[in-house]
Amino acid sequence: MDQPRFHSFLHKQIPVMMVLSILPGLGYVFLGYMHDIHVPALIWYALVCLLSVHGWRLYRHFKPQSMSQRALDEWYRGLEWFFYAFFALWLVIFLIYVWEDAYKLHYIAVFTEIGASVVAATLLYPDRRLFRPVLLALMLPLAIYFALIGQWYGYILSAFAATLTWVLFYAAGSSHRLLIRTHHQASHDQLTGLYNRHFFIDHMQRQLNSLRESRGCSFLLLIDLDHFKTVNDSLGHDVGDRLLEEVTARLQPLLRGQGLMARLGGDEFIIIGDEMQSPDRCQERSRTLAERLLAVLKETYVINDHHIYISASIGISLIHGDRANGDSANSLIREADIAMYEAKAGGRDGVFLFNEEMSRRVESHLEIERLLHFALEKDEISLQFQPQLDAGRRVIGAETLVRWNNDKLGMVPPDQFIPIAEQTGLIVELGNHILRQAFDTLRDWHERGIVLEQFSINISMRQFTHHSFLDTVEDLCTRQLTPELRRRLVFEVTESVVAEDIQRVIAGMRRLQQLGIRFSMDDFGTGYSSLSYLKQLPIDEVKIDRAFVRRLDTDSGDQAMVTTILNIAEIFGPPVVAEGVESEAQFNMLVELGCRIFQGYHFSRPLPKSDFEAFFQANLQQNQ
Ligand code: C2E
Ligand code: CA
Ligand code: CA
Repeated sequence: MDQPRFHSFLHKQIPVMMVLSILPGLGYVFLGYMHDIHVPALIWYALVCLLSVHGWRLYRHFKPQSMSQRALDEWYRGLEWFFYAFFALWLVIFLIYVWEDAYKLHYIAVFTEIGASVVAATLLYPDRRLFRPVLLALMLPLAIYFALIGQWYGYILSAFAATLTWVLFYAAGSSHRLLIRTHHQASHDQLTGLYNRHFFIDHMQRQLNSLRESRGCSFLLLIDLDHFKTVNDSLGHDVGDRLLEEVTARLQPLLRGQGLMARLGGDEFIIIGDEMQSPDRCQERSRTLAERLLAVLKETYVINDHHIYISASIGISLIHGDRANGDSANSLIREADIAMYEAKAGGRDGVFLFNEEMSRRVESHLEIERLLHFALEKDEISLQFQPQLDAGRRVIGAETLVRWNNDKLGMVPPDQFIPIAEQTGLIVELGNHILRQAFDTLRDWHERGIVLEQFSINISMRQFTHHSFLDTVEDLCTRQLTPELRRRLVFEVTESVVAEDIQRVIAGMRRLQQLGIRFSMDDFGTGYSSLSYLKQLPIDEVKIDRAFVRRLDTDSGDQAMVTTILNIAEIFGPPVVAEGVESEAQFNMLVELGCRIFQGYHFSRPLPKSDFEAFFQANLQQNQ
């Protein structure tokens, strides 16, 4: 983009120009009638009226929201010619009147010319290509006219006219520069000098209109730096700012001639590609560009002696002219945003292309998020209990598993809604509800002779690290459970809990262990650095993930893994629970390997409270 254009401002000047010509124009017709030059005056006035009609049409056709760039450029050219023609007419009337002998007419003509010049300087200043030639064309004949008088006062007047010309040029020029500066500030980001969101959306809307017209296609790239917040927090905002400048400096040269880039805010950049004809080519180009941008971004930055490494996540949304009808700029940006988040979720440092599948996932995610909000008050959350057996097939424990039954969505599996509850923070409230219900069940069972050695509850990361968690558990424990029952409690945590802030987590675990609560390391073996965690953490039990158990009888690698886990557990002490036991063969193998507690569909699926009670009683009788 070179010179910005001020379409809206000049658009408003069309009627002003028309009123300033049609009304005073009548006076000239009258004067012409008085001095016997009515024919040229009438012709002149007719031309003014004709041009006004044209101006009115130009005025009506201006619709910036739906016009393509091409249409807008064309309209602007029309506007330029309209103004040239109008001021040319004022020059003509000047020439007609000074041609006459009557001096009265000369005075009027001179005044007209000066007036027209002032009008030109005040109305046309947004565009140099307008006000410069027009001012020159109006004022030069005036200076010549004065000089042609051939008297000393004529030369002085001619000098005055030249001075006035300079003043008008100067005034229009300063207004022009001020306007450009204001426009630049309003449309650019101060830090990086890139366009800002406001400008980008306007530009994009125009480009969408163009694509719709030409049925071409283009792409949108949304770039979000990974872990930029960490740079800001650890090295300070100055370094963060410098980094953003550096990123801009690296991205811009790669983009040359391929599109327009803006900073949306924070560490988010956006690019809209230039128009292309083939969708395949468009997709290919956007991918290549994105990959190149990523590669350049990842090179080391040296800022204030800090060596900084960053990566970015890029989301791409393709824009099809033939489909762009309903797509507004904002909805396309949202698509790129969804794809960008997908890249973040996929481990960052990657490029993702938006597709409908992603959109459906986001929709369902939002739907779950919305409905989950009311799940507690509508009493849709319940608990199931999966029996845990010892090697002699005696039920010795249970794992509590949450269920959500929604009238619209049906049964939503916890794998789907727990992560969402974690993201939204609802897990704290939900987790407390689960704790209360679970504690009630434990007490109720104990009072009715269903005595379990252990009673496991899953605790998620966000819940455990929430500042109120320890107090809540302490409070619920002392109110709902006797010290003896508290010793039956096992909290299942995953390694991700631990990855947070290990010292704080250890302190929290110790505090709860004082109450009698035990800790189980869930999904053991799926994460990384399990071993070092196992050494540091006060763990009372290890649960081998069901993924290993599943392939135990077929996969020798998993067999080795289970053996290793059991060996490690033996060294460190905690008993091992095998979950996901689905067959007799798996059970036998695990017994042989030294596993002590078993859980899985082979014995029972997770059961509602009353079913668990029946299962327990039947099991009790079998073992008597
Ligand atoms: P998890 O803690 O690993 O729970 C075990 C999952 O394995 C349960 O799925 C259970 O139904 C399933 N399972 C048990 N035996 C077998 C088997 O033999 N074969 C197979 N294929 N699966 C078996 P569920 O109930 O769908 O729970 C999924 C996950 O949701 C849990 O994994 C846990 O991470 C989370 N979750 C469940 N309830 C809660 C809860 O109350 N709080 C929190 N924070 N998370 C929960
Ligand atoms: Ca579990
Ligand atoms: Ca597990």
